[in-house]
Amino acid sequence: KERSPRYNRILLKLSGEALAGEEGFGIDPRVLDTLSLEIGQLVGIGVQVGLVIGGGNLFRGAALQTAGLDRVAGDHMGMLATVMNGLAMRDALERSNIRTRLMSAIPMSGIVEHYDHRNANRHLKNGEVVIFCAGTGNPFFTTDSAACLRGIEISADVVLKATKVDGVYNDDPVTNPQAEKYERLTYDEVIDRKLGVMDLTAICLCRDHDMPLRVFNMNKQGALLNLMLGGSEGTLVEA
Ligand code: UDP
Repeated sequence: KERSPRYNRILLKLSGEALAGEEGFGIDPRVLDTLSLEIGQLVGIGVQVGLVIGGGNLFRGAALQTAGLDRVAGDHMGMLATVMNGLAMRDALERSNIRTRLMSAIPMSGIVEHYDHRNANRHLKNGEVVIFCAGTGNPFFTTDSAACLRGIEISADVVLKATKVDGVYNDDPVTNPQAEKYERLTYDEVIDRKLGVMDLTAICLCRDHDMPLRVFNMNKQGALLNLMLGGSEGTLVEA
């Protein structure tokens, strides 16, 4: 029997590193294919998928600044990195026959569509995956903030942050095997306990607009689909 998904529309945040594979740098085409497969499963059961992609596998403004570059120039490079990741992701999705739009916060005529809220909604309603790239279009922000912003704009049911660990822990589970996972947290707990789920700008945006946020392990095969079908994965952050 067909099970209907628990969410109608989601905003999935993939970090740049999620595209990088083993080396942690660049773009691994095999990883793109795996991601496409998982995203395709969601589209297949009727979930509308918005995607925000990071750029940390290529450039990060803060890291470039440490190396001596001007911060704003570095952030511009970071945002351009997210466009490159977006182009690669769209390519992989379309090769898997998943209709996809790539919209950039920074106009780049001839390469990507410029982000437009109404058009994005229309594409999502039509069942197309919409990838939002170039972050918020502004320096000093992150793609986590962009994810929460777009999630709120498109009235997503939830913002899903894909990570390498199975949710939020009270300590680093890699170095401390005793670390405990939280099933559920409030926005204020995340902020007060400095849990580093996302940066403060992103968390506050979600809090101010009551946007639930779930952190889960994307490396766990089928986790995303399981979540859509009502399963429990990772940690939920809400009011
Ligand atoms: N960035 C920015 N404004 C934004 C989003 C991103 O300036 O609205 C820049 C910033 O330099 C950031 C880089 O783009 O370091 C890549 O984004 P992010 O670090 O969020 O990527 P992720 O860690 O998710 O791979």
